Amino acid sequence: MPRTNMNRARLERLFVAVLVAGALMVWRTEHVQAQRGPRGGGRGAAQNERQFGRGRNLRGVLGGVPLTAADSAVQNVVARLDFDSYKELVRGLTQFGDREQGTERNAQAIDWIEQQLRSWGYETGRIQYEYRGEPREEVYATKVGSTVPGEMYIIGGHMDGRGAGEAANDDGSGAALVLEIARALASSEVTTARSIRFALWNNEETGLNGSRAYVDQRAPLQGIEEPAGSGIYPEPRWLGMIQHDMMMWDHGNPVTYSQALDADVDVEFQLNSAMAEESAALGLRLINANRKFATDYPGVLSNAMSNTDSSPFMDLVPSVSLRENRRLYETGNRANPHWHQPTDLFVTFSDDDFRLGFNAAQTTLGALAHLVEARVAPGM
Ligand SMILES: [Zn+2]
Repeated sequence: MPRTNMNRARLERLFVAVLVAGALMVWRTEHVQAQRGPRGGGRGAAQNERQFGRGRNLRGVLGGVPLTAADSAVQNVVARLDFDSYKELVRGLTQFGDREQGTERNAQAIDWIEQQLRSWGYETGRIQYEYRGEPREEVYATKVGSTVPGEMYIIGGHMDGRGAGEAANDDGSGAALVLEIARALASSEVTTARSIRFALWNNEETGLNGSRAYVDQRAPLQGIEEPAGSGIYPEPRWLGMIQHDMMMWDHGNPVTYSQALDADVDVEFQLNSAMAEESAALGLRLINANRKFATDYPGVLSNAMSNTDSSPFMDLVPSVSLRENRRLYETGNRANPHWHQPTDLFVTFSDDDFRLGFNAAQTTLGALAHLVEARVAPGM
């Protein structure tokens, strides 16, 4: 065969190969779009449940891990979380609009949060502090440890927002996550060896003023039994802090369809902190808990935690934050178009979005239940 003919044959084969590859790419794009629906819509939870069943990994991204007996005990605790309850708590917070600090709707939201916690049987407390010379408040509650009440983990979300919408995602989604975990643990059927504090920070948006006030006021009180011999510890010794801020939206950047295929729960610690190594270890516990107990979305660990209420804790105790996106690399590059906008509304988000927040709740509670030795009483 003459050399020129051979080259032509090769070119023709290459051309066909390119055509086939192109056709496959077009088919795949359309196939994926058909599966996921139009922008902002996506597969509903009901559709997913019909096809895959509840509690299954819908995306096939999490590898199976054989559960130990200890893991199974944790799973019984995580199973108390309820997706619809989580959504309703987000909805409850959004009835107060953006809950901007210093407004009446902010004060009403604090009262509402306190009512929820009390309705589940918790005693609540409030931190009083000043912001620019004016009085401010924030509310917390505690699951008291049965055998080591003088030690605790703190989990937090901020209840204030901004943007003139409903601050549904920032940070209704994180505040509701903390409340849903509190609800799941409230029953006397659930015991924890160590204590857990549920913190609903105020004044996050003005510069972490609420969480800073907490650290300033309460750090010196850690581990003091009051009154002596009572077994009561107003401020148990801090073992770690886990913050939740913007939990639901991971649609890629630029934004594509309802949840990117690689949507995940981002766990961050701060490398430039006194407790970096211990915080990384806490973060790894969360990643491992995610693999075992989260149903839909994987977890990823990185080291640039920033602009969130775990920052005031990070030189004192192991501290991490959970988010829909890495704060500096992704959120900071406008990965969420609703951030601080009037469109941060309950109705903006689909069940795929709420489910990402719910997976973060499964992640945190999975790690936490192991750390505080949470148990559901047998037969419950
Ligand atoms: Zn926030």
